[in-house]
Amino acid sequence: MKVLKFGGKSLANGLGLEKTLEIIKHKKANEEDICVVVSARGNATDELIALLENARNGQWEEEDWINFKENQLKAIPQQQDILDTDFHNLKNFFAGVKLLKDYSLKTKDEVLSFGEVISAKTLVQVLINEGLSAKFVDARSFLITDDRFGNAIPKDEISEKNAQAAFEEFYSNGAIPVVTGFIGVTEEGETTTLGRNGSNYSAALVAKFINAEILENYTHVDGVFSVNPELVEDARHIENLSFQEANEMVNFGMNVLHDKTILPLIDKNIPLKILNTFKGIDQTGTLISNDKNNTSVKSLMLQENKSLVVFEGRGLLGKVGIDARFFSALHRAGVSAGIISQGSSERGMGVVVDEKDAPRALEALRKEFARDYDTKDVQSIHSIDGLSVISIIGQKMSHFNQSYNALIKNHVEPLLISNTVSGANVSIVISKEDTSKALNIIHGELFENPKQIHLAIIGHGTVGRALINQILNSTHDIVNRKNTHIKIFAISNSKNLILDKKGIGKDWETQLQTSAVPANIETLLKYAKENHLENLIAVDNTASSVFVENYELLAENGFDLVSSNKIFNTLPIDRYKNLRKVLEDKNKKYLYETNVGAGLPLIDTIKLLHLSGENITRVKGVFSGSLSYIFNNFSVREDAFSTIIKEAMDKGYTEPDPREDLSGNDVARKLLILARELDLVNEFSDINIQNLIPENLQSIAKDEFLSRLEELNTEYEQLKKSLPEDHVLRYVGELKGDLQKEKGQLEVKLVSVPKSASLGQVKGSDSIFEIYTESYGENPIVIMGAGAGAEVTARGVFGDILRVSENK
Ligand code: ASP
Ligand code: MG
Repeated sequence: MKVLKFGGKSLANGLGLEKTLEIIKHKKANEEDICVVVSARGNATDELIALLENARNGQWEEEDWINFKENQLKAIPQQQDILDTDFHNLKNFFAGVKLLKDYSLKTKDEVLSFGEVISAKTLVQVLINEGLSAKFVDARSFLITDDRFGNAIPKDEISEKNAQAAFEEFYSNGAIPVVTGFIGVTEEGETTTLGRNGSNYSAALVAKFINAEILENYTHVDGVFSVNPELVEDARHIENLSFQEANEMVNFGMNVLHDKTILPLIDKNIPLKILNTFKGIDQTGTLISNDKNNTSVKSLMLQENKSLVVFEGRGLLGKVGIDARFFSALHRAGVSAGIISQGSSERGMGVVVDEKDAPRALEALRKEFARDYDTKDVQSIHSIDGLSVISIIGQKMSHFNQSYNALIKNHVEPLLISNTVSGANVSIVISKEDTSKALNIIHGELFENPKQIHLAIIGHGTVGRALINQILNSTHDIVNRKNTHIKIFAISNSKNLILDKKGIGKDWETQLQTSAVPANIETLLKYAKENHLENLIAVDNTASSVFVENYELLAENGFDLVSSNKIFNTLPIDRYKNLRKVLEDKNKKYLYETNVGAGLPLIDTIKLLHLSGENITRVKGVFSGSLSYIFNNFSVREDAFSTIIKEAMDKGYTEPDPREDLSGNDVARKLLILARELDLVNEFSDINIQNLIPENLQSIAKDEFLSRLEELNTEYEQLKKSLPEDHVLRYVGELKGDLQKEKGQLEVKLVSVPKSASLGQVKGSDSIFEIYTESYGENPIVIMGAGAGAEVTARGVFGDILRVSENK
């Protein structure tokens, strides 16, 4: 015999009932012996409770009652009269409650029992209408319980005997028994219920009593998942579970099952299958059985609406009996304690309770400890409400570190962590707002799902555009190689913003053009927060000083920062230090390898040398790709200086106004950034900069300047002629002085160097950096290569993004 249990949604009018019928018919067609246990149909139990409450409060609406009735009768339009007596009796109960303005738990159980009775009778009629033979079985004919109304405990032995006798009859006549779930009866004949969702328990008991081969529980979900699929997209369906595992999950809040359901099944080793009524005949579901091979199932369970009751008593150290008083008080208040925490300092205690119980718990505790309050042995008794408990089932404390780190990095700080003495479980208490984010993070860690990195990219000039395309083109490879999924969730320019937590695709430019969302940092932060996005990185590819203003705010809101924009690092030193402080406080990173020498690994090298205690004595180099091109060419070619500048402009090496490069400011900024890496506190104004533009051309309009470019020629021609033989011109930045002091000497200037020196050998638009250190002596570390260009810069930014991601 198979026991099939159908829940409220499976029996509701319409699709539910249709599917239930299909399943039963299919079983019968296969000549399977079945017994059906039912819940009340749809939300009947809730509706009955509401009607009861209204009757008591004098808010009875005849219309609600009629709706309830009609809804229940819809499935059997021709045979409505079979329920006449039940509705009549039910109505009488309500009339009594209206009169008395009150009801007992006993009355409540009587009233609720009609939900299941009506359901079973209806299903029997529906089956008969389909030509099947079925018989209504009132569980009260065999299921004896104690008299804890509302949560009665079955008496197994006698119930089993009764059941076996009752079921004898059905075996012989082949009718499908349709049994009322949820309800039982005391030895005195009073109706009881087994607690909300108790039909599952009833079904397990029936299965046990009649030695069923399996209990098939038809629900509206596909079975058990590693985590609630409504909260975590990547939730995994679990096909097999052992009884122990299922029991553990139930204990930690799995609500697919009633908490006592599994026990009767374990007694007789009857497997339980959880299936989805709406998925029809062919489905895997979840099989819970005695199979001990599955001992590695991991899952996350969630308990919501919890409070942490906090009891602080500094005068209690070493006193005996405080805990006993504490828990007795809770006991008297009828409050059940979940996670319990007490430090070895015994200065207080934290206990997790249901949020609705917290006020009662506080009242009871304050009363119990009133005297100790007066003597100041107890300082505070309060509660922190709005909490959730996430339990990681199947994880030992020793493996919890990864999940924990990931939580902290994403600003989710558990209020309490607890492991169980038996079994491998870790529970954390967190605030309600963090629940969904935390579930996603831990689930990702447990199942090694690709780590989700969420990027906001600001600016899409040449570097920004190249970066976005590089990322979109390599998303797939990075998932495969590094198990990291880099998603661009935001792109913004100075006007518009586009947002998509699923990841913005290749049509980003059109989207951005047509976006109606104005660029706004608050909108961006709000979106990330509301969508609980984890592992956030903001990437600044603008060259402006506007977006830079948001760096601290971003770090405070959980973003790491990557920037090709140099401006922040050259702001006054106080601001520079402030950001570093915020970053440190918030445990966030800020990488900007491309600030100097584009993609060349310069900043990282200098940082590491400095950190490792190597004494850097001097840094010198050609910092600017455009000036490199200009002087590499001018030094060896016959062409006029202006021709070469124009050529560099045409090739896109210079800024739109080449004076940005020729003024030396760009090189100076880079030099300052390097200096600050060495903990020097130089300001921009400390730098000696040789401006290559004659004063009279420095502040005229760009167009005029370009038309007067030739005015530069004579001076530079003369300079070239005056060079010693085999020397060339190079525009260099140099950091020197006693670099152990507060400030170094920073100089940016045009110099002549021998062709054979390393600076003299740079070609094209390459950059070169010589790093002199104490250990390396007179032979500097030389880093040379393409130091400019959108593609290489974007690669460098991408590298920074990956570096930050790795740390997540
Ligand atoms: N009808 C009852 C309830 O809603 C029992 C059940 O559905 O399992 O709680
Ligand atoms: Mg139900």
